[in-house]
Amino acid sequence: MDKQEIKTNEERQSLSFVEQMIEKDLAEGKNNGRIQTRFPPEPNGYLHIGHAKAICMDFGIATKYNGVCNLRFDDTNPSKENNEYVENILNDIHWLGFQWGNVYYASDYFQQLWDFAVWLIEKGLAYVDEQTSEQIAEQKGTPTEAGTNSPYRDRPVEENLALFKKMNTPEAVEGSMVLRAKLDMANPNMHFRDPIMYRIIHTPHHRTGTKWNAYPMYDFAHGQSDYFEGVTHSICTLEFVPHRPLYDRFIDYLQEKDQQHDYRPVQIEFNRLNLTYTIMSKRKLLALVEEKRVNGWDDPRMPTISGMRRRGYSPEGIRNFINSIGYTKFDALNDMALLEAAIREDLNARATRVSAVLNPVKLVITNYPENETEEMVAINNPENEADGTHTTTFSKTLWIERDDFMEDAPKKFFRLTPGKEVRLKNAYIIMCTGCKKNEKGEIEEIYAEYDPESKSGREGASRKVKGTLHWLSTEHCRKAEVRIYDRLFNVENTAVEGQDFHELLNPDSLQVMTECYVEPYAAERKAGEYLQFQRIGYFMADIDSTPEHPIFNKTVGLKDSWAKINK
Ligand code: ATP
Ligand code: MG
Repeated sequence: MDKQEIKTNEERQSLSFVEQMIEKDLAEGKNNGRIQTRFPPEPNGYLHIGHAKAICMDFGIATKYNGVCNLRFDDTNPSKENNEYVENILNDIHWLGFQWGNVYYASDYFQQLWDFAVWLIEKGLAYVDEQTSEQIAEQKGTPTEAGTNSPYRDRPVEENLALFKKMNTPEAVEGSMVLRAKLDMANPNMHFRDPIMYRIIHTPHHRTGTKWNAYPMYDFAHGQSDYFEGVTHSICTLEFVPHRPLYDRFIDYLQEKDQQHDYRPVQIEFNRLNLTYTIMSKRKLLALVEEKRVNGWDDPRMPTISGMRRRGYSPEGIRNFINSIGYTKFDALNDMALLEAAIREDLNARATRVSAVLNPVKLVITNYPENETEEMVAINNPENEADGTHTTTFSKTLWIERDDFMEDAPKKFFRLTPGKEVRLKNAYIIMCTGCKKNEKGEIEEIYAEYDPESKSGREGASRKVKGTLHWLSTEHCRKAEVRIYDRLFNVENTAVEGQDFHELLNPDSLQVMTECYVEPYAAERKAGEYLQFQRIGYFMADIDSTPEHPIFNKTVGLKDSWAKINK
């Protein structure tokens, strides 16, 4: 072996358990060294951050071992699936930064699966059951107690074949018949107790229309599709561990039918991603959308890829987060704060710094000439000089944040208070001289004097002042709507047994601020451009934003202030 290929113990240990399994297969020359994975979404909803974890695994393995990862839409239940979901899934995977080999559909294999089912019937390994689903469930038994055979279990092959054909006609009544594998009603693995292979559905299919009326179940489609495509490693989440023996059994039968024994897929399972304060179930996410508790699948509060994109998360930040949590064999609950930290870190390197005042109060520089303006230079990103600069207009009347002024301030208040100096970012040092209040005692205007010698970047400007404030010229800014998001749910763990998830929703997860101001340069930014509102957080223009009516989504704050509040 080439010396370079010999791995140190340390390198071997840093491989994920999946990589270790794959390297073992490669070392043993399995499947002629071919690596093929797949990402198999069901097009019954939008992808969420949990899917991103599976995507990073499936595509990551293929890339690392010079293999291919195909996309397979697991479209075996027409009553829940549609093309809108297909389109969005394709878009989201691309945006995350991955490129698939081929796009396949489980529905491409409906005929092959049908033929395989017929073969199993002919072998005496499948039968049509005419009991109700309740009766079938009652006969299942428990893991420690054997089930009871269906009265239809031993009907003759010819009858089974005729009934199976009937199941696939428009006249067949939904729920009146199912095709079951004849395996073992006493097996401790419940999936072996004559699992259902086919059921009747009359909803037209998004690709095959009304051609089929009988559709295969997951367990009778997934492994088989893997086999048809030549998948070598079928990587999925831990809940499929108990399905694996059945997965293998159907592959055994398929190989027997085909008389091809040169390769077979293996199923490998890793832990699902669960995140605090949100949900990962498409069924529940769909409920939130349909009940209008959020504004669509891409609502920035949603854990969907499209929601995160709209909110301003970067694909690199999402991928870094997935890398940092890793893959294990144990289910856990990951902290949302970890995801946010990864996003924050990535955006720090990427985001253009702009000025925005979310809660404005007027500041008048009393000794600055009326009608005069100056263009101040703002560095776009101190982390990346190549990002260049832009200018912002300075004038006598400015907006600053209401919070940045206090009339009677404590000693450690390094913002604006009468008699103290602060720097206005990229502009001058000012000294606060007072303020005007209305009859209710609210601050209406703040007054200050500027030091003309203290302009940023100028000789002599280096006098130390403790605080630096951001500002906007009232005549040279645009009104903006800013949407601030809080956690979608009030509790860390939303999967509480016996608890309706609706009751855990945070009623204040969206705050819309309509009286904000941004510099014109920010108002011109479009969705997809990463921004930092200086001293506030990371933001992105919403997809509905226009330069005339700018709308911004808050992506994440500059610091994790949230953890403190709740502890
Ligand atoms: P749901 O039960 O919410 O509908 P699903 O698992 O049925 O989700 P699929 O579209 O079938 O969704 O999933 C496609 C792939 O993504 C599967 O391999 C699945 O294991 C994986 N996946 C789904 N959710 C997660 C998650 N939370 N963490 C990691 N992988 C996931
Ligand atoms: Mg699924």
